[in-house]
Amino acid sequence: VKYFFTAYCQIIFIWSLFGQIIPDFSPPVKHNIVLSGSFGELRLGHFHAGLDIKSRRGVQGDSIFSIYDGYVSRIKVEPGGYGNSLYITHPNGYTSVYAHLKSFEKEIASYTKQNQLHENCFTVDINPNRNRFTVKKGAFIGLMGNSGKSFGPHLHFEIRHTKSDLLINPITLGIKPTDTRPPIINSMLLYEYDGLMNIVHEEEIPINKRSQSVYKLVRDTLHVKSLDSFSLSIKLFDRMNGASNKNGVYQINTILNDTLISSLCFDSLRFEDSNGIAFLIDQKRMNSTRSINHLFHITAQYPFSFSKSIQKFLKKDRHVEFRIDLIDYMLNKSSIDFVISEKNKVHKKIHSNYIIAPNTASLVNTQNFSILFKRNTFQEKQGIVLYEKEFVHVDQLVHSIYFEPKYQNLNKPVEILYSPQNKIFNRQTCFSYLDKGKYKLIGNCQSDSICLAKIYNFQNVFVTTDSIPPTITPLFKNTIFRTNNSVRFIIKDNLEPTRKSQYLKINGTLNNTWVLFEYDLKTNTIAYKVDKNLKKGDYDLNLQVTDNQGNSSCYFTTIKII
Ligand SMILES: [Zn+2]
Repeated sequence: VKYFFTAYCQIIFIWSLFGQIIPDFSPPVKHNIVLSGSFGELRLGHFHAGLDIKSRRGVQGDSIFSIYDGYVSRIKVEPGGYGNSLYITHPNGYTSVYAHLKSFEKEIASYTKQNQLHENCFTVDINPNRNRFTVKKGAFIGLMGNSGKSFGPHLHFEIRHTKSDLLINPITLGIKPTDTRPPIINSMLLYEYDGLMNIVHEEEIPINKRSQSVYKLVRDTLHVKSLDSFSLSIKLFDRMNGASNKNGVYQINTILNDTLISSLCFDSLRFEDSNGIAFLIDQKRMNSTRSINHLFHITAQYPFSFSKSIQKFLKKDRHVEFRIDLIDYMLNKSSIDFVISEKNKVHKKIHSNYIIAPNTASLVNTQNFSILFKRNTFQEKQGIVLYEKEFVHVDQLVHSIYFEPKYQNLNKPVEILYSPQNKIFNRQTCFSYLDKGKYKLIGNCQSDSICLAKIYNFQNVFVTTDSIPPTITPLFKNTIFRTNNSVRFIIKDNLEPTRKSQYLKINGTLNNTWVLFEYDLKTNTIAYKVDKNLKKGDYDLNLQVTDNQGNSSCYFTTIKII
């Protein structure tokens, strides 16, 4: 099972592309293929579209050959870019591209020169007709060079689907280097963001190489302020046999709590994929060191054409087991894993004293709240202390407002408007207060643009997001009932309802017919009294209990009425 994902990825790709027939291409060079650039490698603004094949001895002039029968469909000469390049269209649906050439084969070269003289221009882009230069598999077409935007003699080699322009990893078609070395994880940085994605914290995280392929953190656990707003920037690369060049990695899997949430698999690419490359490149690092680090976000994934699996990460508690698997095409694998933990109780306390005058309305603004005191809220001038606190409780960030002293009775309700800096809330966001160790509901946000609550006495108010459904516990052991017996359950929610409008909603059915459950809030009990008109027999009992934030629980059983 170890390499399941890799194997899966390749098999699916080959099936979808070739219907199990892999074309019989021959390599474009006669010497051993050693790469100085791999397919899909992150480059500034784009993914590398092909393989960079090194020269045999570090100098220009190695012979280049057509990988298959076909015809020269494009000849391009330019001072930058691909320099001297040839495109050969093959009858099997592919086009191969050979770039940065020193020179073309004699006939192609003289034809190109004629065109340059005719157009009075060095830069030419010619599409010869299909009978002009036909080539056989293995035919000599030019010499390896360093023309255009190239920094050392090499062949930039691509294979494209002629019709769709899909770029294909030549390694999947058998143009392979030797590679027995697993990918390397070199260094790691942590970034933490505020609600507007500004970096508010940056830290180098020391890593430890335990073996050829196993990496760990020097400290086991990585602490972050919030699991929702960080990213990791990792310098990673693959080295192949016989060269020190740092190449890209073929497959990058991100695994959280044993769930694969992202698998980037460089079998093929589309030109449009480059639109999303900013999601993968640490631009800050790039600007300061010119090194391209791979950026891992766990909450946001870009839908690249080569993303083989995208799952949303669901945060369940304050810790997450994080793992990255790096796999090269020859299935050499490296990984790093560690625990990421949200920091405990990060308090941010802003104390403020206010004098509230009785004969005028007052508005107090804190970081995330606006609090409105209406005229005549107090009988006379009142000094109050009001402060905001931010902390992590169970698994979520809580904003809260504290009042001192605790006034039991206000003449008018105080209105609290919640307007967090990140502007994120919804119907699951709610206000509550603490009473004898239990959170009680004050009210929900009205929509995802308005979040307002009224309080009738000074209580400390907490804003949380409730995604926890109520619990349903049956109060019976056996499922046989006589008529007029009661079928009883205890229903509880994490936020206790305090008003009529906040009662839990109960939907009970017997064989899909709605039945009445009586609800007693004191004891948290609901009861259905078996109707005396029911026929004896088995009945499906379905119960659904929903809280004010829309979280539901269901309970299903079959009861026998005798
Ligand atoms: Zn290249």
